[in-house]
Amino acid sequence: MENDEASPTPSSAGLILVATPIGNLADLSFRARDALAEASLVLCEDTRVTSRLLARHSISATTLALHDHNEESEAPRLIARLLAGERMALVSDAGTPLVSDPGYRLVRAAIAAGVPVTAVPGPNAAVMALTLSGLPPHPFLFHGFLPPKAAARTAEIRKLAAMEGAGLSATLIFYEAPHRTAEALAALAEILGTGRPAAVARELTKRFEEVRRGTLGHLAEHYASHEARGEVVICVGPAPPPETSAESLDDALRAAMAQLSLRDAAAAVAEATGLPRKRVYARALELAAAGPR
Ligand code: SAM
Repeated sequence: MENDEASPTPSSAGLILVATPIGNLADLSFRARDALAEASLVLCEDTRVTSRLLARHSISATTLALHDHNEESEAPRLIARLLAGERMALVSDAGTPLVSDPGYRLVRAAIAAGVPVTAVPGPNAAVMALTLSGLPPHPFLFHGFLPPKAAARTAEIRKLAAMEGAGLSATLIFYEAPHRTAEALAALAEILGTGRPAAVARELTKRFEEVRRGTLGHLAEHYASHEARGEVVICVGPAPPPETSAESLDDALRAAMAQLSLRDAAAAVAEATGLPRKRVYARALELAAAGPR
């Protein structure tokens, strides 16, 4: 059953997911700092990474490593402590916890146990890359990492291509390791098409931040001969709308005109097909003038 208990504030009992910087340590918010300073325990992916952040902000906190290998086994003990009234913060090495990072199992267990859960929002590489990409910001599909092995990666991209064939039209976002960026781009270009607009965002918020925009073909070619250094997000623009034949345009217009005014029917069909409104409207006028088939 859903529970809709009040969310905890940084100073009340419960679990708080705290977003941390993705490279620039100055990107820690005031609320994030308070949440970390006031937590009885900071759960982190790697205590050494989080200790550097805490030290930079003069925060003294007790930390505990929580990662993919111990999250399931630690969860019951942590939930018991949270239910007893403790306030804990969960962070990952960078960015928003749970997003391609540990924490989901603990959050799920906390929700199931009725522990109040809230978050201090903040940096996230996927959203930052999306907003800088120049590609349509919504809808977007965040995929996270592609499989590292070529065969599994190809299968995964083919699955996305099949979804696009079935009508998915969204900007796709992938996290990628620098040494696999060239091969991932090559696979994306081969399967989704070399002409697809895309962007590679590197080292966001850091000294050598760069966003390279172009077609998948151009980006694949570029990174085939230039090593992608640092951290990388790949964004791929939505699949182009499928070609609409003259016959299917007429069918769509006739069906829409049976329900809507000519103007609304033309607007709806233009929206659905991605064809220019003027052209669709002109054809709707012709069909109306010709009368019923
Ligand atoms: N939880 C993090 C977030 O909210 O973005 C992501 C963690 S995931 C393990 C790490 C991956 O995120 C990197 O391999 C890279 O693809 C992406 N990433 C993280 N920081 C980045 C940055 N500063 N610039 C570009 N990509 C970054």
